[in-house]
Amino acid sequence: MFTLADLPYPYNALEPYIDERTMQIHHDKHHATYVKNLNDALAGNEQWLSKSVEDVIKNLPQVPEAVRTKVRNNGGGHANHSLFWQAMAAPAQASAGKPEGDLATAIDATFGNLVQFQEKFSAAALGHFGSGWAWLTSNNGKLEIVDTLNQDSPLMDGKTPILGLDVWEHAYYLKYQNVRADYIKAWWNVINWQEVNRRFAKVK
Ligand code: MN
Repeated sequence: MFTLADLPYPYNALEPYIDERTMQIHHDKHHATYVKNLNDALAGNEQWLSKSVEDVIKNLPQVPEAVRTKVRNNGGGHANHSLFWQAMAAPAQASAGKPEGDLATAIDATFGNLVQFQEKFSAAALGHFGSGWAWLTSNNGKLEIVDTLNQDSPLMDGKTPILGLDVWEHAYYLKYQNVRADYIKAWWNVINWQEVNRRFAKVK
């Protein structure tokens, strides 16, 4: 069975950039529902229930066809949100961090510098039509910014997500209403760079 981990910080830890109420609903309702629906879809199927959610969604073509769409949507939702929570931190911790080591080198080589990376990532997040995600991924060690529809994960395309931003309205509507650009701008204040550095070092 897949389980919902607690947030790695209190619900109000990301204030004032991401509000407590949004974090409660987002984690306890939305993410919890993805986990429940994933377990329902794979009920009794030990072969798939025993894998990590990342291994499940990397191998979607092998998932039984009758539940494949449900596993894609809810397995993607579980994996995406699990990464999302871990890649954020309270503003004081976030502002003390930055890309380091291999990640810093790769960002400079690929995008010019950190600011140019952030501008390009923000444009991808803002330009994504409808519900979905913007990602920094490692494609065999090479950094790429991509966006995905709904709860699709870069893992489904053989890329490893390093950092991801949820641009579903449920992620920002209570505080920012329709102004996605303000949510994106605020989110840069709560990046857990230590975690992002660690993720890139692991896949590089
Ligand atoms: Mn979400």
